[in-house]
Amino acid sequence: MSNKICQNIVILGGGTAGWMTANLMAVQWHDQITSKQLSITLIESPDIGVIGVGEGSTPQLKTFFDKIGVQEKDWMPECNATYKNGILFKNWSNRDGFDSYFHPFVSIIDAHTAPAFVHNTLFKRQGYDIDSTVDHFFLSATLAKQQKSPIGNENFPFDIGYGYHFDAVLLGKYLSKVAITRGVNHVSATVRDVSLDKAGNIEHLTLDNNKKVSADLFVDCTGFASVLLQKNLQVPFISFKENLFNDRAVTIATPHATNDKLNSQTISTAMKYGWAWDIPLTNRTGNGYVYSSDFCTPEQAESELREKLGLIDNKIKANHLKMKVGRVEKHWHKNCVAIGLSQGFIEPLEATALHFVQETIEGFIDAYSLQNVGQTTQELFNKKMNARFDGIRDYIVAHYRLSDRSDTEYWRLNSENPNISNNLKKIVQCWLNGDDLNKALVQPDMVSFYPPVSWHALLAGYGFSPAANDKLAYNAQAHKYDLAHIDQFIRRSAMNFTDHKNFLATINNS
Ligand SMILES: Cc1cc2nc3c(=O)[nH]c(=O)nc-3n(C[C@H](O)[C@H](O)[C@H](O)COP(=O)(O)OP(=O)(O)OC[C@H]3O[C@@H](n4cnc5c(N)ncnc54)[C@H](O)[C@@H]3O)c2cc1C
Repeated sequence: MSNKICQNIVILGGGTAGWMTANLMAVQWHDQITSKQLSITLIESPDIGVIGVGEGSTPQLKTFFDKIGVQEKDWMPECNATYKNGILFKNWSNRDGFDSYFHPFVSIIDAHTAPAFVHNTLFKRQGYDIDSTVDHFFLSATLAKQQKSPIGNENFPFDIGYGYHFDAVLLGKYLSKVAITRGVNHVSATVRDVSLDKAGNIEHLTLDNNKKVSADLFVDCTGFASVLLQKNLQVPFISFKENLFNDRAVTIATPHATNDKLNSQTISTAMKYGWAWDIPLTNRTGNGYVYSSDFCTPEQAESELREKLGLIDNKIKANHLKMKVGRVEKHWHKNCVAIGLSQGFIEPLEATALHFVQETIEGFIDAYSLQNVGQTTQELFNKKMNARFDGIRDYIVAHYRLSDRSDTEYWRLNSENPNISNNLKKIVQCWLNGDDLNKALVQPDMVSFYPPVSWHALLAGYGFSPAANDKLAYNAQAHKYDLAHIDQFIRRSAMNFTDHKNFLATINNS
């Protein structure tokens, strides 16, 4: 393997992962591209479509646009995008008073209230009767509830953490335009054959027009097909099926009613055999049901989703998808790195896939830019990616394992599932023992994958606590933060934010 930036990079695949890779590389290696020392070519098939879903993000996507120097007023209107303050989880818990909770995106301003939330969850677990409802402590929860955008009025003194909702197909198209103007070559062709050299590196690709394309580095962004890394370099895939049962999805887009206010949150509703998303775009709502084919048929899933949407007799088209949940053993192997669905996928419950795409590209660029890229660099990169995948998986698994729903075999088997990692077992044990969860998340390093507030929000949001202790109730007041003050503080801050729909209209018209 060479130790300097190579001369030719080929990205195979033009989904969101392919175009995000092209953009970040084009920015990072701008000088080499302009001086013709480096060429980046993206090849995408005109016949094999993109997956076309993936409409929600974490706040990480904002840093992606910042890095590539693209402003919201430019990309959001073209992708029918809206703001996302977090995710509202509905019907995941049967516990009294816990039929929904909000997973907030945290901002600097929450530094005033988050410690109170964490503090209260600790006392709650020790048996005190105390408010540990996540929604009462975070600005984003209030903004979401009031359908406000997370953009403060001009003189609002804090930055707010937020993500986006967008049309996945339009986002790919938008990113392709940006990358091409920055010097990325675009080839529309299908790869029919892949040739390896004696050392097992990819030598060249043969396109359907019989052209051969060689490169120093190949980036596999071919989605679940993983044409280069899994199919040709034979890197094994490790399935997460034993603790993440969902392997399919059905989607239906619905129009907004004209006078509807626009949500600034994703809604995730637990269903009989999985969960359904509700994602607001400026022109429509994206709906989808992620389920396990071991427990219901595609027809049953579609009909349950239609019933939820009030579309039983409506002929509006549904789209059925298969998902391959798990990760590859090595993300970077020989002269090929896989990015996106080709490297793996943890189901979309927390919309982490594009966040992962970005971290893979950035981690790869850092590693690849080192003076001496060798076996050790690759191994370290692969180890990091695997740890990230497994850490995020544990957080997602917790949503199923800790639910007390028992209405179907699907939920019963999820809540009894013995196949959970030791890290997750430790977290659950710590929570139930009434110990300090922040400490438990640091060792082993689980905080790098999901922040402590997210774990607290999930566990408290499910009402997953030891039983309240009557004797301690009278003491609760002594340990209680001034909730009226917190509430006032959050509400006062929220007043500086405008209605979500109106704010987006100003962007669309600017
Ligand atoms: C149900 C579902 C919901 C999801 N929700 C979210 C979400 O809310 N948030 C989120 O971040 N992510 C989500 N994801 C994941 C997200 O959709 C993907 O991470 C994202 O779209 C990137 O996909 P991709 O680019 O890796 O693959 P794809 O979009 O599948 O692109 C593959 C590309 O490879 C090309 N290709 C394949 N084979 C060949 C060949 N032989 N020759 C040439 N080209 C080829 C295709 O033409 C295409 O351009 C979701 C996924 C699913 C399944």
